[in-house]
Formats: sequence, C-alpha cells, structure tokens
Amino acid sequence: MIKEFFRKLMGKKEPVELSYSRIQSYKKCPWLFKLVYMDGMRSSPNGSMSLGMSLHRALANYLGGDHQERSLDRLFQIYDEVWVNEGFANTQETLDSYDAGRRMLQNFFEIDRLKTSTVIATEKNFFLPLDGIKLMGSIDRIDKNPDGSFEIIEYKTQADNWSPQRMGSDLQLTLYEIGAEKGLALTPVHLRYFFLSNGTSCATTRSEEQKNGAMDLVFEISEKIRSKHFEPNYSYCERCEFARRCANYKPGGKR
Ligand code: SF4
Repeated sequence: MIKEFFRKLMGKKEPVELSYSRIQSYKKCPWLFKLVYMDGMRSSPNGSMSLGMSLHRALANYLGGDHQERSLDRLFQIYDEVWVNEGFANTQETLDSYDAGRRMLQNFFEIDRLKTSTVIATEKNFFLPLDGIKLMGSIDRIDKNPDGSFEIIEYKTQADNWSPQRMGSDLQLTLYEIGAEKGLALTPVHLRYFFLSNGTSCATTRSEEQKNGAMDLVFEISEKIRSKHFEPNYSYCERCEFARRCANYKPGGKR
C-alpha cells in the first residue's frame, strides 16, 4: 500500500478533484456528477441539510478554538447562534427540527463527557495529491488519545440507518483514514462514529484490503471523469434531487 501510494504520488496529469461526496455523486449517476461538479448546478436547501449544517457548525464551534468551557448551556447557545433557518417546509417543521437538534446535542454532550481524549481539530481538511487526482476531505473531528494515537470521529444523525456491516465498510471513513495517514501524517489512527440521534458511540476499523479497494475506486472513477464518461444512470432518476431540472430525466429505466 505504502509503495503503491508513493508510486502514484505527484504525477503530471491534469488533476481530477475527488472527495467522498463527489465519488458518491458519480456512483449514483455520472450525469449528476457532471451537473453538480462541472456545470455548477446547486441543489435547493432543505430542512434536513439545514439541520445537519447547524449541528456540525455548533459542534465545531463548541470544540474548536481556545474556549475550554464544556457545558450544555454553552453548546445550546452556540446552536442558536449558528442555526441555519432555511429550507424548512413550514413553521412546524422548523420548530420540530430545532427541537430534534437540541436533543441530539444533549446526546452528544452525554457521550462526549466520557471521553478521555483531547480534541486537536474540528472540520479538518485534508488534501492528498496523487497521480492526476486531488483527493480531498473534511473530517468532523480529530482527537488525540492518552496513548498518543489519534481518533477520527464522524458525526451521524440517524443511528437507525447504520448496521454494523455499514459501519464497518462505509467508504467515507475509509477515505478519511487514508487522508489522515497520508495527508495529515497522523498515525496510528482509530475510527469512531458518534450517533447523535441516540447518543451512542461506536468504534470501527478498516483493513489494508479495504483501503486498497477504496484507492482503486478513486483511480477508476478519476479515469472515467478524465475521459468524460458521464452516462446517465436512469435507475436513480426517481430519487434524484435534480429530476425537475435535468434534461436526461427518465424515470423507470433505460431510454
Ligand atoms: S435526473 Fe436522472 S439522469 Fe438526470 S442527473 Fe438525476 S439521475 Fe442522472
């Protein structure tokens, strides 16, 4: 893996910018990737996105900087300051989402107070120049453990959607481990999810095989993007947020 990594490092091709979100977009539908990341089409704000942004901003501000006070009152105060009030269907949805966010922050507070590690970064960007690729990511939180190891923490709002199998294989943390090791020179790195909806915290791991598989996927998709392979995936049309604005919208299968 290490040898392969350096072999591919610092190539001369025109770089393709990739991240977990970009890869997910391409996997859903290559045409969708083109609309968003090459043509600049933006999705309309919705309540779920706004709540997610509010929670992530609140936690980053609460844990970041020099402010060491850890109290639920302060966390709620920051939540109010950074609340993103757009995309909700009506006032009731706004109020329900706001209350749900407060409950999630309370859950966060309860699991976070048990940790013995030190927060060293929040919303930490990594940037990995590979052969013709810029692999990027933003890690919710990085802690340093008392034994000197590091822990990448990813916040998730919906615990119900995360089976043990999904936790153990999700591409996002696989790429973040690679980014932390190769882009931020952090080692050894552990991985953990914080599920804000039910206040649980789960450690997970990735094997060398999984990391190699993730890098193979990164190179495969970057080659397709470079060769302008943007074939629509019609099987995704019915779930696509751009359906109304996409000239290729074709629900129900192939043309
Ligand atoms: S509407 Fe269909 S073809 Fe268009 S971007 Fe979405 S999934 Fe792709």
